[in-house]
Amino acid sequence: MQPALANDEEKASQSVSRRAKLFVVLVCVAIAASHVWQSWAARQSDLVNTRTYTDNMARALAQHASDAFQSADGLLLDVGDRINTLGMGSPLIAEMAPLLHRLAEEIPQLDGLLVYDELGGWVVNSSGKAPEDANNSDRPYFIYHRDHLDMAPLIGPVLRSRTTGNWIIPMSRRLNHRDGSFAGVVLATMDLKYFTSLYSTFNVGPSGSIGLLLTKGTLLTRQPFEEKYINRDFSDSPLFRELLPVKPVGNIDTVSRLDGVQRLISYHRLQKYPLLVSVAMSQEDALADWRQETLVYSAGVLLLLLMISAFGWRLIGQIELRLRAEMKAVRAMNELQEVNRTLEMLAHQDGLTGLSNRRHFDEVLEKEYRRSTRGGGPLSLVLIDVDFFKQYNDIYGHQAGDECLRQVGRVLKDLQRRPADLAVRYGGEEMLMLLPSTDAVGAAQMAEKIRAGIQALGIVHKASATGVVTVSAGVNSILPDQKHVPPIKELVGQADAALYEAKRGGRNQVRIAEPVRSAA
Ligand code: GH3
Ligand code: MG
Ligand code: MG
Repeated sequence: MQPALANDEEKASQSVSRRAKLFVVLVCVAIAASHVWQSWAARQSDLVNTRTYTDNMARALAQHASDAFQSADGLLLDVGDRINTLGMGSPLIAEMAPLLHRLAEEIPQLDGLLVYDELGGWVVNSSGKAPEDANNSDRPYFIYHRDHLDMAPLIGPVLRSRTTGNWIIPMSRRLNHRDGSFAGVVLATMDLKYFTSLYSTFNVGPSGSIGLLLTKGTLLTRQPFEEKYINRDFSDSPLFRELLPVKPVGNIDTVSRLDGVQRLISYHRLQKYPLLVSVAMSQEDALADWRQETLVYSAGVLLLLLMISAFGWRLIGQIELRLRAEMKAVRAMNELQEVNRTLEMLAHQDGLTGLSNRRHFDEVLEKEYRRSTRGGGPLSLVLIDVDFFKQYNDIYGHQAGDECLRQVGRVLKDLQRRPADLAVRYGGEEMLMLLPSTDAVGAAQMAEKIRAGIQALGIVHKASATGVVTVSAGVNSILPDQKHVPPIKELVGQADAALYEAKRGGRNQVRIAEPVRSAA
């Protein structure tokens, strides 16, 4: 088998398995990449949904807070108007307690409705009773109104009520005497619980929060509620410093100063009052479901990849095995053909001289005879027989006889000039040269060359008249224009007859068969 061919096949099989491996790797990479991309898209989508959710909640809760403060403010204006009509100091004001009580009752978020005179003394309130010698001149809202002429409502900061003990958000307005001087303060107190209990019904995750703040940055209340957060100042946070002054509504991604948690914060400022609602959800909570799903999907994808890799590798292994087996089979087939060729050649060859054997000669002769008799040109043969070979064997031994035959054979082999010429060991020490497309003259020349060539070998033969080994030759030919072509089986016989003539004529000579000579 040709090694170049084997190499080519090996290369082809390697390239097939390399391409199969590349295909498996590409499939795995594609699946992994698509999974990563899908997970990333799902994560982004969850974050966007969370932002939409917190944005909507902030807007709804801002509306709720706005409504709550607006109804309280309505009461402040109403009570303020009545006191203005009566005039601060009128004894009738004290009789307004049941009215204030009724008004406060109607609005659930209201903890109390109170009126103070210009010194902070309790004039009237919705609970109907007042602590003895009570004075609220120390309260920040009182001090503010006393010192400021503006008539706008004031909200916050958070206080503990002196009547109920509850945490309250104060909303207050200044009262003036008819001459415009400070007459006192009318105050509505909003129960902090009203807001926190509503906020606690929303699910913003374990780390989420909902806050109600003053626009200047003071936290009024927060869900989850903790007292320590009340009135905490956030004015220097990015939300209040940078965002709120330019955008009354929006959201921000930030790390909380309270607990260090990363949160998405949506905020909504109230239009009428200096308040805002913030809804925050931690990124951790927002992505909790996504994380869970991604973990499960990833495990699935990993399993799939492992399966594809395992099956792919097994398949490639089998392909490789098959290719290798195919290669082996091809190689074995080639070797077998080679052996067959050798066997065929050996079957056609004579073992001693390497010339064609009798069987091969018979096959070729038949073909050439047919070709010649169908008008394919002349056909000749030269039959030789070693002279006194019996004695040669007797004198020099059988092995020397064999060697002699080998040398005689080589002369014939060397004289095959045309591809169709065939040197044959016909049997024993008789050899033959078949000469297609050669006429009797050419054949006689060839016979003479053979005879001379063998004599020229100079193989010493004491019993021979010439002192060396010689041969006698008989030549026979058929011609295209010959009237009576002899049957095939007589071709060699006629040559043999000529050979016999040569022997009789003294050996070491060439004779041409009778019919040919007469035809020529
Ligand atoms: P002639 O000149 O008339 O041909 O005399 P000859 O001695 O050659 O007579 P013949 O042709 O009858 O002799 C053939 C001999 O050739 C007989 C045999 O011992 C010998 N011989 C035949 N085949 C072989 C062979 O393969 N090897 C050897 N060493 N001798 C062979
Ligand atoms: Mg003989
Ligand atoms: Mg002989």
